[in-house]
Amino acid sequence: MADKELLIKLENFRKELHKYPELSGYEKETQKRILNFLQNLKPDKIIKNIGGYGLAYIFDSGNAGPDVLFRADMDALPINEINNIEHKSRKKGVAHLCGHDGHIAVMSGLAHLIDKEKPNKGRAIILFQPEEENGQGAAKVIKDEKFREINPDYAFAFHNLPGYEKNTVVVKNGAFSSASTGVIIKLKGLSSHAAYPENGNSPDVCFAELILDFNNIKNKDGFADFVLLTVIHAKLGEIAFGTSPGDAEIMLTIRSYLNEDMEKLKDYVNSVLEATCTKHKIKYNVDYTEDFPASINDDYCVDVVRAAAKKSEAPLIALENPFRWSEDFGHFTINNKSAIFGIGSGKKQPQLHNENFDFPDEITGTAMTVFFEIYKNILI
Ligand SMILES: [Zn+2]
Ligand SMILES: [Zn+2]
Repeated sequence: MADKELLIKLENFRKELHKYPELSGYEKETQKRILNFLQNLKPDKIIKNIGGYGLAYIFDSGNAGPDVLFRADMDALPINEINNIEHKSRKKGVAHLCGHDGHIAVMSGLAHLIDKEKPNKGRAIILFQPEEENGQGAAKVIKDEKFREINPDYAFAFHNLPGYEKNTVVVKNGAFSSASTGVIIKLKGLSSHAAYPENGNSPDVCFAELILDFNNIKNKDGFADFVLLTVIHAKLGEIAFGTSPGDAEIMLTIRSYLNEDMEKLKDYVNSVLEATCTKHKIKYNVDYTEDFPASINDDYCVDVVRAAAKKSEAPLIALENPFRWSEDFGHFTINNKSAIFGIGSGKKQPQLHNENFDFPDEITGTAMTVFFEIYKNILI
């Protein structure tokens, strides 16, 4: 068990982070707060501003051995918090409603433990990663020149999971969370007077058919595993009773358990667009945005997590299906043997991104201990 004094420090630090949240790509003060909180530690190297405001602490044994990366995400969400708590967000419209404040606290705790018990072989790297919520941070960190000297053999991360008993470790071999991509479709016909719609070419029927076609995807064969398409926004013309519209816009989120299926799903969206728009003589433009690959766990890494949960005496649940949400940790799982797992944050805990979410500090000790056991398993 982690010592009480450290846990109290971590709780206070977590609450400080909660008070001063920062949006994806703007984690400047958060970086400063972490540097300040960890100032008495003696890592062998600190790398600042990696992939934006990312921060890496490297503990080097000086001996040959694997390099193991532990990752926490840093960013908050553009949502107004409605909690009535002392540490409520001091920034209107921005709040830590995904628990990344807690994730930072856990990895800061791990840094303290590693600082006291340095690796015997290889290196331990603690990475505070920016811009998780928009799906860009992990990719930016990996692309950054500075990442070359990190390039780990193994990477580990966790997410707190509302709906599961507190401190339960939730594992899954293979896909843990889904691939997802945003799709922005713009349709262009020709506007005209509403009294003479035949003088133009309204995209209305094309628009309606597309939405129906996209919804049919749920029944479509040809995918290796689960896929999902959700229409998240649709707009036809303007509010002008004298005008037959010339423009429309549809936005979708497409999801799949497997990265291969995501490619097929994009092909499907493109072919439906091409066929339906051609039929109605409507021009279109399609953009894909906020690309998250699926997080695919490595079997050895999951075994290490299972063993760590056992040593920490934390209850363990193996998931049957991956989560439908996405995690940009997926980028690490493409390049490195990795595992991301969940730690239950309470059955009654509001869901992630709910306005009244607040990371439960009671799970910090377990999370930190599990990571420390993973660390000891590979590097001690
Ligand atoms: Zn989130
Ligand atoms: Zn999150």
